[in-house]
Amino acid sequence: MRGLSTGLILTATAAASPFVYTLPPDQYREAVDYHRWLNGLHFAGAALQLAVLAALVALRAGPRLAARLRAPRVAAMVLGVVFAAGLPVDAARHWVLLRYGMSTQGWPDWFADTLKSAAVTGALAVVLLPAGITLVRRWRLGWIAAWAVATLLAIAGAWAAPVYFDPLFSNFRPLAESRPALVAPLAEVCRRAGYPVPPSRMFEMDASQTSRAVNAYMTGLGASRRIVIWDTAIQVLTVPQIQTVFAHEVGHYAQGHIALGIAAASAGMLLAAWLARLLLRRRSGQPIPLILLLLSALGFLSEPVANSASRWMERQADIYELEAMQGLVPDPGRNSAETDQILSAIDREDPEPGPFIRFWRYDHPPVAERMEFARTYRPHRH
Ligand SMILES: [Zn+2]
Repeated sequence: MRGLSTGLILTATAAASPFVYTLPPDQYREAVDYHRWLNGLHFAGAALQLAVLAALVALRAGPRLAARLRAPRVAAMVLGVVFAAGLPVDAARHWVLLRYGMSTQGWPDWFADTLKSAAVTGALAVVLLPAGITLVRRWRLGWIAAWAVATLLAIAGAWAAPVYFDPLFSNFRPLAESRPALVAPLAEVCRRAGYPVPPSRMFEMDASQTSRAVNAYMTGLGASRRIVIWDTAIQVLTVPQIQTVFAHEVGHYAQGHIALGIAAASAGMLLAAWLARLLLRRRSGQPIPLILLLLSALGFLSEPVANSASRWMERQADIYELEAMQGLVPDPGRNSAETDQILSAIDREDPEPGPFIRFWRYDHPPVAERMEFARTYRPHRH
């Protein structure tokens, strides 16, 4: 009921302010239901994964398997069981995306992508997990070494993601090739922001192959840093709206948010390595299920921490965007809010996320907050 009444109020004020996130009543209801599903499945998936790993620990699956198999095979089997157990939840998520029209990807294609993704992460884990456990067990400072290696791998992964990993799932083209007319307006944003992003680091992604969602993001590290705009976003936005989206990404780029994220993740991994050392000291036998349980639990519990940090970075990027757009459009706040409205309505952004969901799952401030921020923001310049 609360949702419906707020929805009607929001709809009623639609004509009055371009700074209020509004949806027609039927879409409002759908957006709320859609996010109930996604949130429910997120927590169900996490609970299921933790329960499966806890069961494997309780059944002493590690030591039993270790009697017959070497550590990498034990890791592969345990990860295979976790993957298989989680598959129904993953499938339910895809079903929700199809049902609410957010995905256009058929089931065989979805399954191929899911397997590909699991194979890449699984292959890495099968090698790294037993090696890390050996390191921590054999040497007093092994946990520090394991942490240092994990941090180096995170850095390498952030560098490699846009070059080697992302192209497994989507096609990317330099914006200068796919939309040459956009390069000059985006270069103008960089000029105003005082931060050059060369056109060779601007890309378009063919998201429309599998999705109806709209997005843009900054990715990569060092030589692989780039800004990617989804073709779905370019199709629905005007040039000033694409400029404001781009200015936000330049904010992430210029402020080194990927490096900051890695530093924060590295701090979390130090805690994980220290806890792993404590656990491994007290236990003998094959500990792969136990260590995976520890990492999964920490991963789940770190979600609200990582998301709070992300929300702070998003606010910094929004400020950067509103500053960079000064003088490019008559009213940067309004241009930003109108862009948010268009993108969020297509993405079925939740118009009324509760406080717990906002705290635990939101890596961006809720769209209504961002639009209100755009309305009240007073620029430093001009
Ligand atoms: Zn952002």
